[in-house]
Amino acid sequence: MSIFLVDEYKDMEPYVPGEQPKDKPYIKLNANETSMPPSPKVFEAISKSEIWNMSYYSDPHCHEFRRAVAEIYHVKEEEVFVGNGADEVLSFVLMSFFRRGMKIYFPDITYGFYRTYAKTYGLDMEEIPVKDDFSIDINDYMELDGDIIFANPNNPTGLTIPTADIERLVKRNPNRMVIVDEAYADYSGETCLPLAVKYPNLVVVRTFSKSRNMAGAHIGFAVSSRDIIEDMNKIKFSFNPFNLNSVTMAAGIAAVKDVDYLHNCVTRIVKNRENFQKELESIGFHVIPSKANFVFCYHDAIDSGILCEKLKEEGILTRHFADEKLTKYLRITIGTEQEMDVVLIAIREILDEVRQKQSVKEKKAC
Ligand code: PMP
Repeated sequence: MSIFLVDEYKDMEPYVPGEQPKDKPYIKLNANETSMPPSPKVFEAISKSEIWNMSYYSDPHCHEFRRAVAEIYHVKEEEVFVGNGADEVLSFVLMSFFRRGMKIYFPDITYGFYRTYAKTYGLDMEEIPVKDDFSIDINDYMELDGDIIFANPNNPTGLTIPTADIERLVKRNPNRMVIVDEAYADYSGETCLPLAVKYPNLVVVRTFSKSRNMAGAHIGFAVSSRDIIEDMNKIKFSFNPFNLNSVTMAAGIAAVKDVDYLHNCVTRIVKNRENFQKELESIGFHVIPSKANFVFCYHDAIDSGILCEKLKEEGILTRHFADEKLTKYLRITIGTEQEMDVVLIAIREILDEVRQKQSVKEKKAC
């Protein structure tokens, strides 16, 4: 640590992204990305002329991109903010509407970055415990004295809060901001997007990193009232006007317009998720019924941390969390049919090995 780091950042706990080991090829199922490519339209969009365009600054208003997003989601350009991933968009929301000491509430089991943001921006965070089955009871949030952020579907559980519940919360608390992070909403089929332009205290955040297979491009957007988006742009222009580069925007415009490709990819992942979940259950796993592109599960016969390590030895990356409430579980991203077949074979082999060791132990004990 240098002598220049400001005091309030000294015990900051930065977010730890999923590992990216390069020692051998891995089936990467630890960050809810996908090995499926972006839309073929994206390949066409990144042409030589786009490379020539790099000579000039990108459009800081992101007009063409915002218009394209607006058209697809049936809102107005003025109701769309675009940024460098959902993470940056969320950061702009917090930068714009929160100041040090302000209250923010979120579930105690959710996307780890919310805790990091709260610390970065010096917010007074309060984590509301989820129920024993990891579900979120909206009634726990109805009478609070601060703003709220939810991931819906939630990460790492994959569980959802019904849209009608969120609408009830937003309606009941017109002076509190509700931020709904819909990073995985394409897989659940439920969205608050239409509500975001109806209620001035609701912000919905989306990403291209999951269902559009573009985590490396890192594109996110928010939909909200015209005033909220204007405020966010004011802050953006005071911080980093060119937050999206021209190549990324060209890719984003092509991707967002290819609705058929998005639907095909989502349908495929949802089918793989349902099959994988069934297969896991048939070999004794406990699986939380996920509406996202991952499953959160455990098996009584093996510690999830050990299973994660053993899968890594087999060339498969999954995500195990050290947090006390999560450590029993393993989060496995849903990939292609072939990837999930390989994962199931590896899991079966690992479980067989565990059982064999167990029966040798029992025989010795006799
Ligand atoms: N929100 C949630 C709930 C997530 O799980 C993630 C991905 N880890 C993000 C946001 C980040 O999305 P992006 O890649 O667009 O920054």
